[in-house]
Amino acid sequence: MRICPLLSIILTLPGLALAQAERRVFEPIPEAVTALGSGAAPSDAIVLFDGSDLNAWQHIRTGNQPAWRINDDRSVTVVPGTGSIETRRSFADIQLHLEWRTDPAEQGEGQTLGNSGIFFQSLYEVQILESFANPTYVNGQAGSVYLQHAPLVNASRPAGEWQSYDIIYISPRWDERGNLQAPAYVTLFHNGVLVQNHTEILGMTFTPEPEYQANCVPYQLEGERDCTGKLPLRLQDHGQLVSFRNIWIRELDNR
Ligand code: MG
Repeated sequence: MRICPLLSIILTLPGLALAQAERRVFEPIPEAVTALGSGAAPSDAIVLFDGSDLNAWQHIRTGNQPAWRINDDRSVTVVPGTGSIETRRSFADIQLHLEWRTDPAEQGEGQTLGNSGIFFQSLYEVQILESFANPTYVNGQAGSVYLQHAPLVNASRPAGEWQSYDIIYISPRWDERGNLQAPAYVTLFHNGVLVQNHTEILGMTFTPEPEYQANCVPYQLEGERDCTGKLPLRLQDHGQLVSFRNIWIRELDNR
């Protein structure tokens, strides 16, 4: 006997519902967090800069309070020559939100116009640069993994306008002997536009060739250290007038 398609669907529905019911998961219940909208940190974020002070940061070499200038609009601006800064706390896998702005009055071109950068684990740089109207090598423009991967598209806004980075950074995995098990990955939304999609980081971005080293010398430092665990997050003083605001992270290690 031929069963009409509709009747066949009706007959199989109870079995289907049963099978799907068995796949329903009720625990653990995701933690409730409050996402407050543009510019505001979610309730479970670690706020690294909210405009009031730089107490979460230190100079990368001296450990002193950074000499960068905090402005009345609750942003902070690089004071060129005073040095890169890093978080006092160390992190591995994180979600990062950060807003940045280059100075429209600044003179320069290519890598000397609005250059800064975010160094994940002090080792792997996602570039910040004036890239709206400032040609340079594409794997060195805003949204690039420096000298490794150009952004998928150029989502830059003109100098002087605030721009956002929302980044998922997954740190490299190492075994107990210091052998690399998996590289680092980065996903980056620039002004809400996907420009790095689970991109494999090939190694440190400031060495002659990208490479991973279990014992390494972080950018602008001297002396080897263990580079397999949590390390500070850095913001670069490249000598240009870049400002930041609303910097927060969420640690992903336990998620
Ligand atoms: Mg840079």
